[in-house]
Amino acid sequence: MAREFLLLHGASIFHKGIDIGAPEGTKLYAICDGEITFADFLGGGGYTITLSKNDMKITYCHVSPEFIVSVGDTIKKGQHIANVGPKNVYGIPNNPYKDKDGNPTNGATTGCHLHLGIRINNQYVNPLSLFPNIAN
Ligand SMILES: [Zn+2]
Repeated sequence: MAREFLLLHGASIFHKGIDIGAPEGTKLYAICDGEITFADFLGGGGYTITLSKNDMKITYCHVSPEFIVSVGDTIKKGQHIANVGPKNVYGIPNNPYKDKDGNPTNGATTGCHLHLGIRINNQYVNPLSLFPNIAN
């Protein structure tokens, strides 16, 4: 878990993926068919879900803690799988991420946004090279 977390979001050190600013509650859709393989709080990624298809893992970070999918769910492309989460989240033990007022945040984030990362065989790739229309 520690390594995954570092690769995912060692904040500015390893920023693998793209950030898409969006208000809390914005619906997030599956960009391909797949299966949910992770749905939990993931350090700097905050509340995170991972959609996996063969060797590809698509990670949606800073989502709402009120998950609407579960690990093991089979997902169809275009399915509503998460919502953009709040900036602040409470009740996570030892959450090291805080805003300037000292309130705990949904991972390493300064505001509501989607962080989208895609790995193929555990190598990060540019999401926009695979899915050019991702942010539309
Ligand atoms: Zn990010």
